Amino acid sequence: MNSMNIKKGDTVVVLSGKDKGKEGVVLRALPQKERVVVEKVNVVKKAMRPTQQNPQGGITSIEAPIHVSNVMLVCPECKKASRVSKRVNEAGKKVRVCKKCGKDIDK
Ligand SMILES: [Zn+2]
Repeated sequence: MNSMNIKKGDTVVVLSGKDKGKEGVVLRALPQKERVVVEKVNVVKKAMRPTQQNPQGGITSIEAPIHVSNVMLVCPECKKASRVSKRVNEAGKKVRVCKKCGKDIDK
């Protein structure tokens, strides 16, 4: 099983596609699909059917999920995009570790 190293609330940088180089916060992680939804990244326009709340219907913009291999975590400590490794901390909890600065990403 492939567990994702990226979680909701992480800041990531986009590595490829039309939003290459953009940074954003992960709004949702979809581990089964190995995809993430990133704020303001891969925004697509979606036609909305008229509803009672919105009788006009119309076009709205939403973030579509992108594959997790297209993003890289930005370390909250050193602010660099980095691969992560994992370790078990003193409290016995699995935490992610930044490979650039060696600090724990998860507290
Ligand atoms: Zn770091």
